[in-house]
Amino acid sequence: MTEPTGARPAPTQDQPWPAGRRELPKTYDPKTVEEPTYQRWLDEGVFRADARSGKPRWSMALPPPNVTGSLHIGHALDHTYQDYLARFHRMRGYEVLWLPGMDHAGIATQNVVERELAKEGKTRFDLGRDAFVERVWSWKAESGGRILGQMRRLGDSVDWSRERFTMDEGLSRAVREVFVSLFEQGLLYRGQRIINWCPRCLTALSDIEVEHEEVPGELARLRYPLADGSGWIGVATSRAETMLGDTAVAVHPDDPRYRHLVGRTVRLPLLDREIPVVADDAVDREFGTGAVKVTPAHDPNDYEIAERHGLDKVNILTEEAIVNANGGRFEGLDRYAARRAVKAALAELGLLDQVDHAPHSVGHCYRCRTEVEPRLSLQWFVRTRPLADQAMAAVRDGRTRFEPERYTRTFFGWMESIRDWCVSRQLWWGHRIPAWYCPDGHVTVDREDPPKCSECGATDLRQDEDVLDTWFSSGLWPLSTLGWPEETQDLADFYPTSVLVTGYDIIFFWVARMLMFGCHFRPPAPFEVTAIHGMVRDREGKKMSKSFGNVIDPLELMDRYGTDALRFALIRGANPGADVPLAEEWVEGARNFANKLWNLGRFVLATEPGPDVSPPGLPAPAQEATALADRWLRSRLERTRAAATAAYQDYDPAEAARVLFSFAWSELADWAVELAKPRLAAGGDDARHAWATLAEALDTTLRLLHPVMPFVTEELCRALTDAATITLGPWPAARPGDADEAAEADMADLQEVIAAVRRFRAEHQVPPARRPRLTISPASQAQAELFQSEAESVRRLTRLESVEVGPAPAGGRRGEPEGPGAAGPTAKLLAAGAELYLPLEGLLDLDEERARLRRELEALAQERARAEAKLANPSFVEKAPAAVVAKARARLAEVEQARAKVEAQVAELG
Ligand SMILES: [Zn+2]
Ligand SMILES: [Zn+2]
Repeated sequence: MTEPTGARPAPTQDQPWPAGRRELPKTYDPKTVEEPTYQRWLDEGVFRADARSGKPRWSMALPPPNVTGSLHIGHALDHTYQDYLARFHRMRGYEVLWLPGMDHAGIATQNVVERELAKEGKTRFDLGRDAFVERVWSWKAESGGRILGQMRRLGDSVDWSRERFTMDEGLSRAVREVFVSLFEQGLLYRGQRIINWCPRCLTALSDIEVEHEEVPGELARLRYPLADGSGWIGVATSRAETMLGDTAVAVHPDDPRYRHLVGRTVRLPLLDREIPVVADDAVDREFGTGAVKVTPAHDPNDYEIAERHGLDKVNILTEEAIVNANGGRFEGLDRYAARRAVKAALAELGLLDQVDHAPHSVGHCYRCRTEVEPRLSLQWFVRTRPLADQAMAAVRDGRTRFEPERYTRTFFGWMESIRDWCVSRQLWWGHRIPAWYCPDGHVTVDREDPPKCSECGATDLRQDEDVLDTWFSSGLWPLSTLGWPEETQDLADFYPTSVLVTGYDIIFFWVARMLMFGCHFRPPAPFEVTAIHGMVRDREGKKMSKSFGNVIDPLELMDRYGTDALRFALIRGANPGADVPLAEEWVEGARNFANKLWNLGRFVLATEPGPDVSPPGLPAPAQEATALADRWLRSRLERTRAAATAAYQDYDPAEAARVLFSFAWSELADWAVELAKPRLAAGGDDARHAWATLAEALDTTLRLLHPVMPFVTEELCRALTDAATITLGPWPAARPGDADEAAEADMADLQEVIAAVRRFRAEHQVPPARRPRLTISPASQAQAELFQSEAESVRRLTRLESVEVGPAPAGGRRGEPEGPGAAGPTAKLLAAGAELYLPLEGLLDLDEERARLRRELEALAQERARAEAKLANPSFVEKAPAAVVAKARARLAEVEQARAKVEAQVAELG
């Protein structure tokens, strides 16, 4: 993409909005500004992408929130991050498409509606499939999509005219096209495999829908007698009930302990089935007894062993995880009751050796927290290996990349170990699988509903009951939302998308799937960049969760502090790819920042020197203006602009926020305004230069902040200039000529001098009404000229009677009345290499001040003695906790520092 040039357009664009400089209310009230501003943006269609505009294009698909969702703090970060990118590019002159929409969220939504039905005492089966799906649609129409309204509050600059839903007709067509194509290409198949099964949701889950968690489990050691009565083999298991489904015992072929048993049979206790002892390389000789029980229908590794040895696969559980008829007398028990009963029965037979506590990791359903049961089941799978290889190739050859780059490794790690993806779900809410079966069991997969079996021509076809995994359709999101598989104009204009923003937690869930589908079906890739941010955590870096009681509600924060404050606090903490700490007082601090900007705007509006210099728009800062304050401010502004722009561009909005905050707060609002006040008051050309420079700096700063704080910046810029909106830019253009190292160095000297006098006044508690005379003895001729020309600034900013630049007061000896101009004792300060002399007459009572400082020194000396004695005591140093000792040492260092400071103050007094 080429970068558009950012020249400021003439102020007479055909913008119908009322604008122009106007008065601002005393305080910034987000409530009265945010909603009308957002509505105005919508009315004017500034977020609507128009590919015919001739501008370079920039596009991004919003990760579709679940239709059941509502805005949480994670969304607030994710959306603010995306909004910064969208607004930044829009202001820079790109035609931006940020496409919103929602996900039908299969299991989540079905659970919500099922819970609703449960209140009426009904299940989905009472309604039947069609009525139930109808019910979900009407739930969606009424209560779904609350989050869309909340996105407005957050200021999301999305193109609402292109809003999509994963179950839209068009998106459903894309899903079907992909299913059928993958089937035709041999990349999708139906087969019996061990899958993760949720016995509560009654559906298969993909590997990533299973959350692993440590549970306080056990390891039971069982004895399996050899069939000929010549002894027994010991095996160990954490799920004793699965022994009902054992079809072999496996040992390692090279294990001398068991070599003689391979090929013989054992008698499976409780069921009296004879099962073989097989030798398999997969057996870990070091684990347990070195012999393992093999349960092919309920364990993925055992399934593999069974495949290699042609073993039976006996399923012992119903879909609800209750023992079925294959479990003999244990039939009807749920898996936990069966576990206890099997152990008791084995113990009675003397076949239970021992049961140890053995915490281990167990998979749980990510939706309902039920323990997942591995289960042999007939499902549809995507053959992921070839797709994953294509996605990895796209990353390797730079068609798509991760920001920050370190996440490439995470991605490769996952893709290298990817397993086939189970995509069928035993749910009713979702895209129904487009496969039909005839009475002979032939499978017909087609883009249109088939009238007859593709193999035998039979017409009584039955469609597969299952729906597709939700991630199947969200994996197509960047493609399907632009109209694919149709060759739409949007697809031609905005694909591949520019950026995909997401938290690192769903790189695999979602990003990997989009890359697999996108690279396969529509090269080069679905997006050029994946920009990754972290998770929002509390101030200590702890995860936010209801059980910790540290959850922050973004809607409440926006009510209390305004949207910009929340956005700024989030972005300021969002270092690339890292977790984002958040505490309420940081949002409060950001609100204060918004207020600071507001006050700046009011100051600038109130101090405008007169109508003769205010044509529409801001006057360009006069080029002939040579005041140091103006040159310095323009230089600092240019550096800030460059740094913020580069940081935004490098996916580091946190850095941009820090740079802008520091410039706006301490340089613009503090120094620049203070320096401008006397000049503005004096009037004339200099006042006009001062005002124009200040106004320009504020306008530029607000534009630079707009991607993060859209509301307050827009409101202020509209009040300051006749801009109808700043959402369309222009982005402040580079002005390399404004960088002025000499001005910055001079200003640094000036600031040092001012700071030294202020510090002296504060430390010696000089009352504000006392106005001393200052003599500056400069270090060089250049400095002499600088202080001469800025003497008035120094005088006003430090509340002095007068400032003179020249040699040290006559006599050169401090503290003594001597020579002409000397008026008694004089303090000497050092700053920027210059010497500063302050006559103390009338400023403070020298004797009293010296006595005060002596008392301070004595107190510090006593404290030092105490601290030293404590640390010299070996029993304290050896016995006290390390942290206490460290604290005592730190305190001693503090006391030393304080002493040095007071001693310097004494020296200043001469
Ligand atoms: Zn579940
Ligand atoms: Zn058939």
